[in-house]
Amino acid sequence: MACACGGNRDLEEGINHECKLCNQMFDSPAKLLCHLIEHSFEGMGGTFKCPVCFTVFVQANKLQQHIFAVHGQEDKIYDCSQCPQKFFFQTELQNHTLSQHAQ
Ligand SMILES: [Zn+2]
Ligand SMILES: [Zn+2]
Ligand SMILES: [Zn+2]
Repeated sequence: MACACGGNRDLEEGINHECKLCNQMFDSPAKLLCHLIEHSFEGMGGTFKCPVCFTVFVQANKLQQHIFAVHGQEDKIYDCSQCPQKFFFQTELQNHTLSQHAQ
């Protein structure tokens, strides 16, 4: 599935961000996150539910925008057991673990 995220985040543009779950490369962390959201909701009928407030969206990028706008950085619910980082989605945590803590 093509990701419809625009480059709307002022983050590390131009750096290659790899999805460790399927080895796809993205040129911004926002696009990678949107892709990871889609991984999180595979097989769930094409809807994306906010893990914090349970609002439902029909596009991964809408959910991504909602999370940044409404929940900011505070409500992340998945803790990395090996460093202090936290994540909204289990697939984000998996991707992080594979990219940062794989030996
Ligand atoms: Zn992937
Ligand atoms: Zn929410
Ligand atoms: Zn970690």
